[in-house]
Amino acid sequence: MKETVNPFADAKPRLSRRGREARLRVNPEQAPAFMPGSRRVDSHSRGSSIFLTALLFLFLGFMLIGGNRRNPRMMAASAVYVVFLTVLAYLIFRTGFVSRYRSIFFSAYGLAFVLGFIPMLLEQRGHLALTGQDIANLDTPLCHLTIPMLIVPGLVYGVLIFPTKLFSDLGFFPMLFLWLGATLTIGKGWCSWGCFYGGLDEFFSKLLPKRRLSSRNFNYKLRWFPFALLAVIVLWAFLALEPVYCSWLCPFKAVTEFVKPVNLLIWIQTGLFIALFLGLVVVLPLLMKRRTQCGLFCPFGAFQSLAGLVNPYRVRVDKDKCTQCGACVAECPTFSITEETLAKHKVSISCARCGRCMEVCPRGAIQYALLGVPLRGGTETAARGRFWKEVVRPDSLFVFAALLFGGIISGGMVASSLLRILHFVQTGSLLLK
Ligand code: SF4
Ligand code: SF4
Ligand code: SF4
Repeated sequence: MKETVNPFADAKPRLSRRGREARLRVNPEQAPAFMPGSRRVDSHSRGSSIFLTALLFLFLGFMLIGGNRRNPRMMAASAVYVVFLTVLAYLIFRTGFVSRYRSIFFSAYGLAFVLGFIPMLLEQRGHLALTGQDIANLDTPLCHLTIPMLIVPGLVYGVLIFPTKLFSDLGFFPMLFLWLGATLTIGKGWCSWGCFYGGLDEFFSKLLPKRRLSSRNFNYKLRWFPFALLAVIVLWAFLALEPVYCSWLCPFKAVTEFVKPVNLLIWIQTGLFIALFLGLVVVLPLLMKRRTQCGLFCPFGAFQSLAGLVNPYRVRVDKDKCTQCGACVAECPTFSITEETLAKHKVSISCARCGRCMEVCPRGAIQYALLGVPLRGGTETAARGRFWKEVVRPDSLFVFAALLFGGIISGGMVASSLLRILHFVQTGSLLLK
């Protein structure tokens, strides 16, 4: 079958600098979308798509299906999930639409987390709200958002300022290893491929077909707020020896666990969690079609932007192809491309490697890149047919690593949520025990 290529892929930029700036200021949300029916510059040939997908299937099958061989029901649910991931992987490689299919995986992961976590707590503890006894027993699952606050008190005083066990399933060391693995494998890509909370933000940002709140006059300096908040909570945690973000500001307490409201102070904290969740994770993403919690609030996202600098994967703008039309500025869900970054042909360090900008760029001017490796200059036509070149391209390597990592860490959660849904249909209860 004859494949259509992006007609803009090789065209030279024609606008003058003033013209480009004017176009960017005036009309960033109306830049031309990719031509319908055309293939992405980042698409793969059928052969390399099948090869990469088959390799992913083998790894995921070994880890997720093989890892559950003593539990036939989990094994079957994992097999369903592996097939689901494999189909998405093939579509990503073959079409080059990374964000479109990643978003399905990431949203499903976020929803599976909510569906699975609360029933799991009820099964294990018999109640949801944390009691004083649970805290005294160090019976609180640790989540990655806490890590930045634990480092300084841990290093200076040798104390863990969060009531969790060191080695239990959701305790300190497993979470530390998970974070280290994520940072080395995908860096800030954690925020588009690994974090279940981010999956919720993404889900709500995709629900409405059209943007209801324009961000044309948005102040992009607000994207530095998570970095300021990070500095405040790290210092505060050190001085007060308390994980202050968890006590006062975490929007996800509204859908995970929270302290039993036994006095006015705890009622105020609970009210804050609910308000932040509704505002930043539900309402603003719905209206703006952006990930407002992740892009404008989450201090762990800022922390991961810095930690992720050790990871070699980047997103780069090709200065020879970019016309500064502004389509990517208008679409980046985490506010990581601005006029200033574009002028330097860069994206901000907060870029979560989601791939959305690559999908909307009419000239194929944004690509996944590897540190120290020049952007590939050729078009898809030049690359197609060269099997190994496609397999080892930076975008192939990054997407493969991200899907493998995301698939492995989400596998147990999604499989058990699938079983819960089946159980709910049969018995009316989400609890498996
Ligand atoms: S910004 Fe925070 S909540 Fe969002 S995906 Fe990253 S770590 Fe998760
Ligand atoms: S990278 Fe692409 S979408 Fe962004 S301004 Fe340049 S040409 Fe437009
Ligand atoms: S710059 Fe591109 S890849 Fe990075 S977060 Fe924004 S849209 Fe996603």
